[in-house]
Amino acid sequence: MKLFLSALTFSLLTVGCANTALTKKVSNPVITEPNAQASTLSRSLPGSYPTSLPSNIIMVIGDGMGPAYTTAYRYFSDNPTTEVVEKTVFDRHLKGLSSTHPASISGIVTDSAASATALATGVKSYNGAIGVDVNKQPVQTVLEWAKLQGKKTGIVVTSQINHATPASYLAHNEHRQNYNAIADSYLDDGIKADLYLGGGWQYFIREDRNLVKEFQQAGFHYIDNYQGLTNLPSDKPVLGLFADKGLPWALDDTDKYRLATMTKAAVHHLKDLQNHDNAKDNGFFMLIEASQIDWAGHGNNISDAMAEMDDLAKTLEYLEHFVEKHPDTLVIVTADHSTGGFTLAANGKYEWHAKHLRTMKHSVNYIAKQLTVNKINSTLTAALFNFELTQDEVNLLIENKTKAKANQNKNIYQNNKTSPSELALIKRVKSIINKRTNSGWTSGGHTAIDVPVFAFGKQSELFNGSQDNTDIAKKIFSLLGK
Ligand SMILES: [Zn+2]
Repeated sequence: MKLFLSALTFSLLTVGCANTALTKKVSNPVITEPNAQASTLSRSLPGSYPTSLPSNIIMVIGDGMGPAYTTAYRYFSDNPTTEVVEKTVFDRHLKGLSSTHPASISGIVTDSAASATALATGVKSYNGAIGVDVNKQPVQTVLEWAKLQGKKTGIVVTSQINHATPASYLAHNEHRQNYNAIADSYLDDGIKADLYLGGGWQYFIREDRNLVKEFQQAGFHYIDNYQGLTNLPSDKPVLGLFADKGLPWALDDTDKYRLATMTKAAVHHLKDLQNHDNAKDNGFFMLIEASQIDWAGHGNNISDAMAEMDDLAKTLEYLEHFVEKHPDTLVIVTADHSTGGFTLAANGKYEWHAKHLRTMKHSVNYIAKQLTVNKINSTLTAALFNFELTQDEVNLLIENKTKAKANQNKNIYQNNKTSPSELALIKRVKSIINKRTNSGWTSGGHTAIDVPVFAFGKQSELFNGSQDNTDIAKKIFSLLGK
């Protein structure tokens, strides 16, 4: 089998190198290989070393999406008029679980950088690491390797495109907070993807450097609004930035299913680019991240979390159709960790209610902002929450707003862009929703519980059972012929 794979790798590499100038600078000479990757894999996958490789691999990460989020989504999306609880796209493709701990130097609770580095490279690292090992040495990522095989590559995220997860597939930096340096490296280390969709104007259009211009000079088509996705030139790589940092919350965005919309456009575009090259179809590798499930989790904000989950579910439903039409495609879905210690039920009550979450139309932040600038009464709250608050709940909002105002001069947030009353209202809006749903949270940070692994399409059974996040990268490397 090894002989077959080596021969295949060689021929793919030949095609890859002849294929495009974009690949030339990808191979960074200082990149170290994951330790004994192939042999570890063949030990962990007895008798199941892939004999037939998928052409397209789509890696999907729900940032912060621990098992409680996919469970909650089942009740959120349930049709309440039927007795059964309908299965979701997640239920249809559940394969197993993954552990998420970082390298031991960072304990057992991972951040998104260490976890994405593990998922991208197969190597454990410290919290904050972007595509580097514990010695801060660059480690090759599956996206870089896919590019070397002549595959088209793309990333689609709802955060800024240089945020921890996408950066761990595209860059090598000792710390996730080096946002400008990471953005610079997208050009300076060689352009590694044919398509980038997400947010990030503030890092890509700066006083000291205009990376958007440089991408355009490198032949990229640039768009800065979702309408542009409907009209992508089939012969050019694409950079699409749609926000200063992360995209607006799904509930507030002009397109509530923007991850699904971007994914459809991206998949079509990568196929178009492949056809345009008129070369052998080497397929594509894509990273998709529903980045803001995590952000909602950090805020203990269940209504925005469910809206982000809904966007991800629509994205996966689209990918189900794509795999039906293109069975040589593998889709893997997992989380980098769970966030907030979210669970369904709290305070000894045997209840969790999704009802009000289903009809909400605005993010918590939007609701709080409107409550800050308008006179609070039950008409306003009914319009903003899209369900009736009790008079007690309305009074609590009024009281929080007034109290915060009274303390304004002493408030530590006084220099912040968000006013004290708005901050107090954000907190209160969330507490009303958490109480109504009876949602439980143990933390404003991450937790170390295992995360679910879903997969469908060619070779998806490789992801069955219990695994570590590094195994996921190792399996993907093997499916990319390494
Ligand atoms: Zn997080």
